[in-house]
Amino acid sequence: MAFKLVLATQNPGKLKELKEIAGNIDWLDLVLAPESFDPEETGTTFLANAQIKAEACAHITGCLSVADDSGISVAALDGGPGIYSARYCEGTDADRRTKLLQAVKEIPLAQRQAAFVCAMVLVDQNGKVIYSTEARWPGLIAFEERGTNGFGYDPIFYLPDYDKTSAELASDEKNQISHRGQAWRSVLEFLRKNYVQTSDSCANLK
Ligand code: IMP
Repeated sequence: MAFKLVLATQNPGKLKELKEIAGNIDWLDLVLAPESFDPEETGTTFLANAQIKAEACAHITGCLSVADDSGISVAALDGGPGIYSARYCEGTDADRRTKLLQAVKEIPLAQRQAAFVCAMVLVDQNGKVIYSTEARWPGLIAFEERGTNGFGYDPIFYLPDYDKTSAELASDEKNQISHRGQAWRSVLEFLRKNYVQTSDSCANLK
């Protein structure tokens, strides 16, 4: 019997992506958080923000919950925009990419190291952390945009080993190596070992 795990977001795109990465597993029923889920991300690290979201989700659902928090960290910007990636500037993803390209425009390729980072925190029905992980996917900030796949900073995240940006990778190729793919597979492995026998993953279904 599949057990229920609530994904601490209302973003259906994120649910779809994690289901794609998980592939055909019949033991997990991953569902979106209810409409009332709207926590304030007041943490100062990816892990802290993921924990805030996971705890808030367990609190309102009474179910085992998992949250992710991700962003891009650029060495030449002291790790920024980091946890502020989604809020780097007002406007669209394209505006944020333009701002980032501008911020590093004088920096030579060899010093344009960056990483996509993804923290994931799994909590039990009471909001107690039972597993957490943080994955980094290293690359460089490109000089200009390339590729049309993906979202966010993908068109300017250059992977020297592939001579492609992450927006030039097919989604299954990206999922194999990405920060979110690594972190989610690690959570799934933990669940498979520890929770697959458990059918009552919700204390009181609301
Ligand atoms: P979150 O989904 O609310 O944690 O926001 C993360 C932000 O980081 C997104 O808005 C994107 O701008 C950026 N980001 C995280 N992961 C990726 C990725 O795989 N590709 C491109 N941008 C990403």
